[in-house]
Amino acid sequence: MITGVNSQRLYTYSISIGREGIFLYKIQYVIIINHNMIDLHTHSKASDGSLSPAQLVEKAVQTGIRVLALTDHDTLAGLEEGKKAAETLKIRFISGIELEIQPEKPGQGLPAGTDSETAGAFSGIPPITGEFHLLGLGISRITADFRSTLDWLREARERRNLSMIEKMKNVGIEVDYESVKAFAGGAVVARPHFGLFLVSKKVVKNQEQAFSRWLGKGRPFYTPREGLAFADALRLIHQAGGAAILAHPLSLYVSWGRLPDLFARLKDQGLDGIEAWHPNAGVGACKRLEELGRRLGLCITAGSDFHGSSRPDRKLGHTAGGHRIDDRFLEALEGIL
Ligand SMILES: [Zn+2]
Ligand SMILES: [Zn+2]
Repeated sequence: MITGVNSQRLYTYSISIGREGIFLYKIQYVIIINHNMIDLHTHSKASDGSLSPAQLVEKAVQTGIRVLALTDHDTLAGLEEGKKAAETLKIRFISGIELEIQPEKPGQGLPAGTDSETAGAFSGIPPITGEFHLLGLGISRITADFRSTLDWLREARERRNLSMIEKMKNVGIEVDYESVKAFAGGAVVARPHFGLFLVSKKVVKNQEQAFSRWLGKGRPFYTPREGLAFADALRLIHQAGGAAILAHPLSLYVSWGRLPDLFARLKDQGLDGIEAWHPNAGVGACKRLEELGRRLGLCITAGSDFHGSSRPDRKLGHTAGGHRIDDRFLEALEGIL
């Protein structure tokens, strides 16, 4: 019997000794093999998580995790600290990143002046209305190109934050950038910090309300983030020696009917795998994604998308349905790392 994505597998064996009718010993025993717990999608303070990379590694060790990937949003800033802590505490560390993709954006090398309408034809990606996040796992060489792209993304994020501040001012909220920054404690300022600010000003009761009423996509303070073209993100991840994995595919808001074609197109362009298991999806949907990904020859991964206290619903080392993440998700990934 194999227990889903749990880290324990039970095997039952029985042995018979002697001939029936004369004497018979039947020995039955159960072997429990403990598979290592892993996590391939986590965030630290270097982006919008609440723990420092070293604290995250420490928590991973306490949780029983043997392999941990740190995948902060658009930054590699936490990797060195995380790697050092993992070496000291003797667990395996996978250097990673999570990049925001703008699906309609043409990649570099496309004809100058390509607009977002014709870009679709070049990228071959059908319209995507949801969030498109790409994980880069196993980043081992950081190119100058990668660094300057991340600098550009950081500047774009600043522009976005300032735009959200303006929108808050426009509805009469007394706010300046410094008071929102205070909630980030030196980390990259992101929407959760705007949420904490709104809670402190009693504009909303809690973080959930901050997102559902004001900060979530389509809400009054929301400003879209500038991201990378899929082709550019792929190139950066591959040049850095990493594997490109589509994070939480259901956040793309693409129907089940269109997903197989989309995955096939993304794979043709160089996508290595999909994160079939993510806590935002139901177990049934994760199984369906895993089956679809395997059928298309994509590598399958699982993650918790842990953020610490800024997302208390996420549990390190656990994914959809509260399942512990099994090291079977490493097998296929090893081949491309
Ligand atoms: Zn994401
Ligand atoms: Zn994430």
